[in-house]
Amino acid sequence: MAEAGVNHYDVLIAGGGITGLTLACALETTGLRIGVIDRNEPAALQDAYALRVSAINRASLEVFHQVGALERMQQLRVSPFREMHVWDSTGVGEIHFDSAELGLDALGYIVENNVIQLALLETARQSDIIDWLCPAQIGSIDLGGELARVERVEGGALTARLLVGADGSQSAVRSAMGIELLRKSYRQRAIVCTVRTEEAHQATAWQCFLPSGPLAFLPLADGSCSIVWSLDETEADAIMALDDPAFSERLEQAFEYRLGKVELVSERAMFPLGHGHVDHYVQDGVALIGDAAHNIHPLAGQGANLGIMDAACLAGVIAEALAAGRQWSACHTLRKYERSRKGDNRVMEATMTGFKQLFGNDNPLLAEIRNMGLNLVDRAPVVKQLFTRQALGKL
Ligand SMILES: Cc1cc2nc3c(=O)[nH]c(=O)nc-3n(C[C@H](O)[C@H](O)[C@H](O)COP(=O)(O)OP(=O)(O)OC[C@H]3O[C@@H](n4cnc5c(N)ncnc54)[C@H](O)[C@@H]3O)c2cc1C
Repeated sequence: MAEAGVNHYDVLIAGGGITGLTLACALETTGLRIGVIDRNEPAALQDAYALRVSAINRASLEVFHQVGALERMQQLRVSPFREMHVWDSTGVGEIHFDSAELGLDALGYIVENNVIQLALLETARQSDIIDWLCPAQIGSIDLGGELARVERVEGGALTARLLVGADGSQSAVRSAMGIELLRKSYRQRAIVCTVRTEEAHQATAWQCFLPSGPLAFLPLADGSCSIVWSLDETEADAIMALDDPAFSERLEQAFEYRLGKVELVSERAMFPLGHGHVDHYVQDGVALIGDAAHNIHPLAGQGANLGIMDAACLAGVIAEALAAGRQWSACHTLRKYERSRKGDNRVMEATMTGFKQLFGNDNPLLAEIRNMGLNLVDRAPVVKQLFTRQALGKL
């Protein structure tokens, strides 16, 4: 018998960020009753671009298409990028990717995080089997019974056969599972902002590896660029303290005037950078996806893409088990999701850390090696193809 004041779901998703909402939409066709709990509504679309954007690869765009959210995202605001230039500031190494060479119209889209959430949320709201429980803050979590139970800070309990932790790097679900994510700090921070550049960005994602960390200029559809500038902690603090004209000057110098003069047109925000990975993604009746399971350096813009792939994979595993009449929320079923995703996610984390170490060191011998590496990559079609597959998301 249903307990008074308790809402029951088949799947309760803790966290309505990019990965949680992707999972909700991807599970819609299973007919399972789904609840998504989040403390905040996604921010409304503004005229000015939001500071948090993500480079979304083609594999993730395909997931958004499959769940019916891509068209809405395109109507709201997306910025396709057709080329990518990556180079080393201490030498001559350079890699260039061109969508035309691959027979594609774009390598991916730069999209504001809130736009991704808004499009997914509108899609979820069209379904009468998905409940958007917001604003609601997770209080306590009990995984000891047959059903997972979540008490809301605002009052009222929720139970579910499967509780999914999509609640980000400080995941409460992960803590309730007794799983630790040992997050190693890079001792770096990422400064994000929006700028206008003297020369056109040419729908190209530009990434420069500086000894102090990578600097990305991501092209936005109105001609401006979204900046992700990773720097050692003390340097980041000093640069954040500069006034706007001095900040713009430092930025255009660091970027080697590739797009001429730079003018800051937004506020600036700063994020601490680290990486980490849990050993296990699943237990009986509970699973972790996205940043709740893994954190990586944003240098190749892959964190959200990995989370979207986690969500698509978990939904596929659940749908397959349901169709076969198997116990879809049992640990042995959920392990299939863990096995499919952990390898890819670990490789990406290790690759990003390796890149960061390789490019962060100003030893002249390493500089020589990395220049050889970048040039080699540009010339050797097979190696470049591998990099391209990674950037596109293994389509
Ligand atoms: C500077 C920077 C640039 C980046 N650029 C890119 C990029 O270009 N491409 C890319 O793929 N990735 C990028 N990333 C990574 C990407 O932003 C993250 O991997 C992604 O947003 C993680 O999504 P998520 O849904 O897993 O977690 P989150 O975005 O952290 O969402 C978690 C959600 O859970 C909710 N929540 C948490 N705890 C509670 C609670 N107790 N009660 C209720 N609700 C709760 C939060 O409100 C939130 O909505 C970047 C990261 C940084 C820092």
